[in-house]
Amino acid sequence: MVDLKSQYQKIKQEVDKAVIEVMETAAFINGPAVKEFTEDLAKFSGSKFVIPCANGTDAIQVAMMAMDLQPDDEVIVPVWTYVATAEVIALLRLKPVFIEVDPQTFCIDVHQIESLITPRTKVIVPVHLYGQCADMEPIMSIAAKHNLYVIEDTAQAIGAVYTFSDGSKKQAGTIGHAGTTSFFPSKNLGGYGDGGAIYTQDEDLAKKMKMIAHHGERIKYYHDVIGCNSRLDTMQASILKIKLQHLHSYEKNRNEVASFYDKAFSDHPNISVPVRSKNSSHVFHQYTLILKDTDRDALREFLASKDIPSMIYYPVPLHHQLAYKEHLLPGQRFEISESLAKNVISLPIHTEMNEEQLIYITDTVKSFFL
Ligand SMILES: *Cc1c(COP(=O)(O)O)cnc(C)c1O
Repeated sequence: MVDLKSQYQKIKQEVDKAVIEVMETAAFINGPAVKEFTEDLAKFSGSKFVIPCANGTDAIQVAMMAMDLQPDDEVIVPVWTYVATAEVIALLRLKPVFIEVDPQTFCIDVHQIESLITPRTKVIVPVHLYGQCADMEPIMSIAAKHNLYVIEDTAQAIGAVYTFSDGSKKQAGTIGHAGTTSFFPSKNLGGYGDGGAIYTQDEDLAKKMKMIAHHGERIKYYHDVIGCNSRLDTMQASILKIKLQHLHSYEKNRNEVASFYDKAFSDHPNISVPVRSKNSSHVFHQYTLILKDTDRDALREFLASKDIPSMIYYPVPLHHQLAYKEHLLPGQRFEISESLAKNVISLPIHTEMNEEQLIYITDTVKSFFL
């Protein structure tokens, strides 16, 4: 699905030098590269504050911990996402309230938000799934009207740009009260291990998040709040700093792959290609098709037999997961997510694909239907 080895080969000299420098200076924890990368990311994203942390799941956790929420406070979260988004909510003894996604964009269905808001609702967590922004403008106005926090899960959409109705633009993660992202190796900006960061435009929240990620420490050995231990590793920061310089070109490569796939499949009777929202750019973390009248397992087996990997993101929506089904509200149904779980398939998409591979993959997929 990804080719991190070839990508590394192209930046090997720079990366090796940076990693060796960390080892030679032995600045393993909070070394200079952490601050440098954090500043570079603030510049890249346009975010006033960037708080580095250990991974994308912690990023959501630290952001939520900074918002002074009480047990059983409700957090609206898409039922169609990676489990990390809801996991943190449950872990903090908050209540995930699942919401359906839009079948075109795979992101939170903004029209259903208000019907789920109760006096206990405190946060909305839009997830910019597969690399495209949720419809942030209406989400922010609903949040303002009901006095709610918005945390954007930007793990899959770093660098995506949202355009508001007045033409102004902001990067994914910099619109809500907090935005969280992940540097898991296969993410669009992937390290060589775990990593994460939080964006915020609010100075008070930034201070609190920083403190929480460092054991709730105000000054060394003085702990004002209960925190956790969530640091971005110096070695990872030194690598991410280099890779951030390539992120725009990585995004371009991914879009070229997506356009090739679009062209190959757009007229196919059994395949729906991803819909591009009119108010967001797409950074194509995943290229996800919806199949019609197709034996998906047979297609996947056929592709595997021709050495083409494919993945299902995700086979089970959250309300059917054993750990989360108790959070289903009476009478709630998620027909769209259930249908997506049965019919989506993601094809390989990464920065190192060449035309020969793309022709092979698209021809092979099409030949399955003949
Ligand atoms: C990857 C991912 C996360 C979690 O990131 P980690 O760095 O693996 O903890 C959270 N949300 C979504 C949507 C993701 O894809």
